[in-house]
Amino acid sequence: MKKKICPRCGSENVKWIIPQVWSQWLCYNCDYTGPVIEADDKLQKEIQENWALNKEEILSEEKERFEETFDDESEFDKKLDDDLTDEEMEKKLDQLFEENK
Ligand SMILES: [Zn+2]
Repeated sequence: MKKKICPRCGSENVKWIIPQVWSQWLCYNCDYTGPVIEADDKLQKEIQENWALNKEEILSEEKERFEETFDDESEFDKKLDDDLTDEEMEKKLDQLFEENK
């Protein structure tokens, strides 16, 4: 039988905290908030074992991801590096055009 568990630590000690937001659950075991997953005993055991073994790692990875998501300024800088502005694009096209004359 499937049950709702915390996708991070595999605990069944999860509670739906915001009735309006179906995806917001709270795990009383590890303080996870977010959507829960439906799992059978086998998957639950795997998650629990993985959590027990890699707890520190999982938490630090999540912290990094969280910081990335909310660090708007660095996201913006990255975008500038990756994408050419219209002007740069035009220059590049001009160059190509000149070369092919
Ligand atoms: Zn949990």
